[in-house]
Amino acid sequence: MADKFDVIVIGAGPGGYVAAIRAAQLGLKAACVEKWQDKQGKVAHGGTCLNVGCIPSKALLEASHKFVEARDDFDELGIVGGDVSMDVKKMMARKDKIVKNLTGGISGLFKANGVTALNGTGKVIGNKQVEVTDFDGKTATYEADSIVVAAGSVPVEIPPTPLTEGLIVDSTGALEFEETPKRLGVIGAGVIGLELGSVWNRLGADVTVLEAMNDFLPMVDASIAKETQKQLKKQGMDIKLGAKVSGSEVKGEEVVVKYEDADGEQEMTFDKLIVCVGRKPYTKGVIADGVDVELDPRGFITVDDQCRTSVPGVYAIGDCVRGPMLAHKASEEGIMVADIIAGHKAEVNYDAIPSVIYTAPEVAWVGMTEQNAKDQGIEVKTGAFPFAASGRAMANNATEGSAKVIADAKTDRILGLHIVGQHAGEMIAQGVIAMEFGSSAEDLALTCYAHPTMSEAVHEAALAVDGHAIHMA
Ligand code: FAD
Repeated sequence: MADKFDVIVIGAGPGGYVAAIRAAQLGLKAACVEKWQDKQGKVAHGGTCLNVGCIPSKALLEASHKFVEARDDFDELGIVGGDVSMDVKKMMARKDKIVKNLTGGISGLFKANGVTALNGTGKVIGNKQVEVTDFDGKTATYEADSIVVAAGSVPVEIPPTPLTEGLIVDSTGALEFEETPKRLGVIGAGVIGLELGSVWNRLGADVTVLEAMNDFLPMVDASIAKETQKQLKKQGMDIKLGAKVSGSEVKGEEVVVKYEDADGEQEMTFDKLIVCVGRKPYTKGVIADGVDVELDPRGFITVDDQCRTSVPGVYAIGDCVRGPMLAHKASEEGIMVADIIAGHKAEVNYDAIPSVIYTAPEVAWVGMTEQNAKDQGIEVKTGAFPFAASGRAMANNATEGSAKVIADAKTDRILGLHIVGQHAGEMIAQGVIAMEFGSSAEDLALTCYAHPTMSEAVHEAALAVDGHAIHMA
């Protein structure tokens, strides 16, 4: 029998590594098992988020956005430059360097906090034991008073478009293109599809997004979603709603996609196809047969509000349990679970988890849409403010979009904030904090905002809830 720990965490994504670090900070003897290997075969901490998710996608979004600014917007600002072009290999190398720095940084954080890193595949085998099979196939068994499963998720594949090396890819493959495809198909107009579609659209690909649903971004307030769709269309993204993909055929270097829309059977040919139809929990091999950790019909590990599974002492967090598949949600659950294991009281406020789509303009939201509230029988009042009326937005050459506050008509309590605009992902924190503190729209309206800032649009939207925005007729 090898070491005994207070806590063993399986998976070192933003859920697991945060749980392990927090547990160690609270004085617990913590270990974290990770099986992800980089191209050199070395363990890579950070999970989907750092290796093939949040961070590499944002590195490409930032580079491609700056490219578009230099190409299309500098002239407007009076900047005289020559023709700009994108060196895709260099952009990718920068992305890889950022990923390497960050994943290496987690190993450093483990050392600094006294978390034992166990490299290999972890499995909960019962009796509070975890079996770890290392990269050479050797197996060791560890004991722990508490076990946290943070095994994450993987992309969903669909039968009509089986992944085909270099041609039909998932989100991971779309972060590795060596050159800009001429014609790019994206299946799925969700967060990841729109972000990856934007990267390659900005770099010159003809991008078509095929989305089975008729509604665009149904989780976002309708007026904000409409504005987003308009902006992406203006940028040249062809988003086809109600387009159900039924099949595909690889013909040499091309892929022909068949789909059905309101006009019947259609066909389109692409040089690359990205399948972004969602992610599913990854629990393969994490729980040994005979261990009674329950899964729901969709494969998520069943947990209560505080991430306890059906087996006492075993917790599960992040993408492998219910709730939004977001890095910060996974991390908050990691902190909560570590606190609970250490004997503290802790909870996550699932009503105040922000979401961001890092397109340009960014889309960010927290809480209910106007429609959600109405569907729940809540009478609402709303206030919206367009960035077109913001001095800072004009100075920034970023007048697209608006901010909308949704408040309870009776109590004035803020129920949601939805924004499309430059830096919406930063501004949304105001809505999150307001909702955490149970603020009213008036609280935001009476708060002093720095001028000139994009955030003033949130202030004005809050003022507009009672019909009194200052800079809007
Ligand atoms: P993961 O990050 O998936 O980590 C799970 C880890 O567990 C992995 O490292 C895996 O190797 C390991 N593991 C699994 N089983 C075992 C085992 N048996 N033994 C040992 N290790 C194991 N979210 C955001 O909030 N913002 C974004 O901007 C964002 N952008 C994204 C962009 C893309 C392209 C993608 C794909 C995702 C993005 N996400 C984003 C989602 C985000 O990456 C996930 O929500 C987040 O990584 C979930 O964290 P997690 O810790 O639950 O799981």
